[in-house]
Amino acid sequence: MPGNMFNDKGRLNIPEIEHDERKTIKAEVVVNAAYCPEGHNLISVDHDVSGFPGIIVRFRGRKSGNGLVSLSAVFGDTSYSVIEGEVDPNEPLVFSCPNCGTELDVLASCPCSPEAVTVMCYLYPRKDPHQAIAFCNVLSCPNSAVIRSGEIIRMLSELHL
Ligand SMILES: [Zn+2]
Ligand SMILES: [Zn+2]
Repeated sequence: MPGNMFNDKGRLNIPEIEHDERKTIKAEVVVNAAYCPEGHNLISVDHDVSGFPGIIVRFRGRKSGNGLVSLSAVFGDTSYSVIEGEVDPNEPLVFSCPNCGTELDVLASCPCSPEAVTVMCYLYPRKDPHQAIAFCNVLSCPNSAVIRSGEIIRMLSELHL
């Protein structure tokens, strides 16, 4: 039997599916430049992740030690590939620029674990937190995928109005 066109209050039944479709479209967006606080581009054509040049950062952790990881530059994609060393995907890591060693700027804390934070890479060589991407410093966290921090900041301020 086909679904009722009207619900029991006599109103039209309208399926709500639009939100999920929007997410799928966003996952296709790729970052092609991501800068450290000192203006070094972290995107490397030598280390593809998910078919696109990755974001290369140095990591440091109590359990993980030191190493180098390439993060996916695709929005919403949590893939990464370890280039140097070994990483504990559940540990909050310190991310820094492989060129100058400057630690990435912190945007906010992340609810996934007590020490977890989201860190930023800037979309332009000058530091502008409204034109940046952000990701959690715990690689297993769903927020470790690249998000646009400017968009997130705008969304939050709209919600508070
Ligand atoms: Zn740098
Ligand atoms: Zn997290």
